[in-house]
Amino acid sequence: MIEFDVCQNFIFKDLAVRGTLVRLKDSYQTITHQHHYPAVLGNLLGEGLLGVILMSSFLKQRGQLTLEFQGEGDLSLLSARCTANNEIRGLVRASPELISTKNLMQALQNGYLNLTYEPEQMGEPYQSIIEVTQTSIAKNLCEYFDRSEQLPTRFVLFSDLDMAAGLMLQVLPVQEGHSREAFGTLAMLAETLTPEEFKTCDFPTILRRLFHEYELELFPAKPIHFGCNCSFERMQNAILNIGEEEAFDILETEPYIEITCEFCGRSQMFDADAVEQLFDGLGGKYH
Ligand SMILES: [Zn+2]
Repeated sequence: MIEFDVCQNFIFKDLAVRGTLVRLKDSYQTITHQHHYPAVLGNLLGEGLLGVILMSSFLKQRGQLTLEFQGEGDLSLLSARCTANNEIRGLVRASPELISTKNLMQALQNGYLNLTYEPEQMGEPYQSIIEVTQTSIAKNLCEYFDRSEQLPTRFVLFSDLDMAAGLMLQVLPVQEGHSREAFGTLAMLAETLTPEEFKTCDFPTILRRLFHEYELELFPAKPIHFGCNCSFERMQNAILNIGEEEAFDILETEPYIEITCEFCGRSQMFDADAVEQLFDGLGGKYH
């Protein structure tokens, strides 16, 4: 049986190398259907979602990770987030009619990758920014680990309109010489994984086909869901951020102010009474 909307970690028993497999269907389609993206953007977003799930898979502490590719070109933002509960959301801001290339560097123009980790409880958020110097999301994420963490890492990402699937391999932080050498071989084997195998084989079969000479241990699979943390309170804050004067300026010409979550499309109307009470500090729930 083929697993969907799950990720699963594994380790190579005699080597200090770990890996994760992920395959998305409903969670990915929920996100792309919210936005009606053209195929090339949907596929890029799929790769971004895979990337952020894979990077979250070995976090020691509970927290959420956000990947943002930003640029000055036809693609101005690709955002993908994975929470501690494996809830994912994402969006793309772009001129869709202009985007015909899957070449990330070209689409972004002077792009950079902004990675944010926010721990759930203790500790400070962590942010890391690197220039986008590679043509694909997978290659840029490898570059991130090479530069920032000095951990050899390989990503194989695949997405089409139907599903998205990926594999990550990484040398463990406590590294030994022979693991680094073996990593080169494992990474080469990983690169031979085809979209067809991603679509038709369950995870154990994929791993057996790629790494049959190695002994692996698989950990329990974790489910992945779509999830957005927008709330009525956040929407109220959006109105407060507009400012009282401007909010009432809008209400001179419009019957209400509509706040829409850019990620999931959920929206909320605020009429003059609601806005007035909000600025009076009363809050409350209006529809
Ligand atoms: Zn939302």
